[in-house]
Amino acid sequence: MSNIKVRFAPSPTGYMHIGNTRTAVFNWLLARKLGGKFMLRIDDTDVLRSKKEYEDALRDVLKWLGLNWEEEARQSARLDRYREVVAKLQAEGRIYACYETAEELEVMRKRLMNRGLPPIYDRGALSLTKEQIAAYEAEGRRPHYRFKLVPGVIEWQDLVRGHCRYDAANLADPVIIREDGSFLYHLPSVIDDADFGITHIIRGEDHVTNTALQIQMFEALGAKVPEFGHLPLLTGTEGKLSKRLGSLGVRELREEGIEAMAISSFLAKLGTSEAIEPFYDLDTLAASLDLSKLGRSQPKFDVEELRNFNTHYVRSLPYEKVAARIGVNEEFWNSVRGNLNVVADINVWKKICCQKLKPVLEDAELTKQAAEILPPEPWNGETYSAWISELKKVSSKSGRALFHPIRMALTAAAEGPELKMLLPLIGREKAYSRLMGIEA
Ligand code: GLU
Repeated sequence: MSNIKVRFAPSPTGYMHIGNTRTAVFNWLLARKLGGKFMLRIDDTDVLRSKKEYEDALRDVLKWLGLNWEEEARQSARLDRYREVVAKLQAEGRIYACYETAEELEVMRKRLMNRGLPPIYDRGALSLTKEQIAAYEAEGRRPHYRFKLVPGVIEWQDLVRGHCRYDAANLADPVIIREDGSFLYHLPSVIDDADFGITHIIRGEDHVTNTALQIQMFEALGAKVPEFGHLPLLTGTEGKLSKRLGSLGVRELREEGIEAMAISSFLAKLGTSEAIEPFYDLDTLAASLDLSKLGRSQPKFDVEELRNFNTHYVRSLPYEKVAARIGVNEEFWNSVRGNLNVVADINVWKKICCQKLKPVLEDAELTKQAAEILPPEPWNGETYSAWISELKKVSSKSGRALFHPIRMALTAAAEGPELKMLLPLIGREKAYSRLMGIEA
C-alpha cells in the first residue's frame, strides 16, 4: 500500500448535498486510483451547529455511495492536541493574542477600504504594552488569536488549477481562535492533516485562499505540505444561484430512485472534457479519474439532467450489477430495463408477470378465442403482434374492442407496460389461464 492518504472532512451542520458529495467522490476516487487510503474526518468544532443526526445521515450517504473509509477522526476529540500546538506556536511567536472588538476591526477595515487599500489587519496587537493588555483584560475583554504569516511568496502546483501563487503581504493574519476560546477551521484542519499524514487534499475552490494560509501553517508545524486540488464550484448548488438546488439532499435523490453510481458517475465527469457516461462500479470510475481534465469554469448542476442521466443509467444497467436487488432473472431484466425510469419500477412488471392475478374479463368470448390461438412457446418480442393479427382475423374485432379486453384479462389493469414486452414474461401457462378467466 502506498503512503497516499486523502480525507473527506465534512462539518456535521447539515445534510449531505450535491456539493460536498462531489468533494467526497473526488477524494475517494483519487485514493483508489493511487492505491491509497480514504479517511473520514468529522469537523465538529462548531458545537452549536454540529448535530449527531447530520453526522449519522452523512455516514449513511457515504456508505450508500460505497465511499468506504479506512480510518476516521473527530475534531472535538482532539482539542487538547490543538491547544498543545497553539502553545508551541505561540511560544515561537507565530500565534499572537489580539484584543480588538468586532466593531473596532470593522472601523479599521472601512478606513483602509476608503483609502483604496486592501483590508489587511495592521498587527496593532503586536505592539501593545503590558499595561494596555492589562487594561483591556480589566475591561473584561478576552483575546482572540491570530496566526502570523511570514513574508514571501506562497506557491503550489494545484492538481486542478495549475500553478498558484500568493504574496503573503496581500493576506491578513487569519484569526484561529475566537474570543470564547473556540477554534476556527484553519489550524485544526492543518494539525489533523499533518498528524494523520494526509498527502492529497481535494476541495472546492472556495478554499483556495485558505490553502495559501494553510501552507504557511504546515510549514510552521514543520510538516510536509500536501498536494492540493481545488474543484471549480458547481453553480446552482452552492446556494448562490438557487436555494432549492443548493439544499438538494442526497437522501432525497436516493429516495427518488437515483442510483448511487449514477450520482458518482455524473459528479465525477461534470465539468470535465469527458462525456458523462454510466460507470457501474467505483473502481472503473476511479481508473478513469484524471484531474487535469477538469475545466476552470464553474459547471452548472441541473437536477433534471441528473434525473435523465439516471434513467439512461438504469436502462443500460447490466444484470449482474442489480441482480441482488431485483429478484428476477436476467432475461426478465433485459426485457424490461429499457422501459424503467428507476429500478423500483421493476415492481410493476414483477407484479403483473410473476404474481397471481385475478383477470378481468370484459369480453369472455374474445379472450377465449385469444387463448385458443396462443402460439406455442418459446415466445419473444414478436410473439404478441403475430398473435394479435391472427386474433384480429378470427374475431373480426379491432381497435379498442380488441386490445382493451386482452389487456384487462392479462394484467387486470387498464394501463401498464407494453403487452408486447409483457407477454413473453407472463408466459404461456399464465396467459392461457388468465384469458380463460382463471386466476393465475
Ligand atoms: N470542514 C471543512 C469544510 O467542510 C473542510 C474543508 C477542507 O476540506 O479542508 O469546508
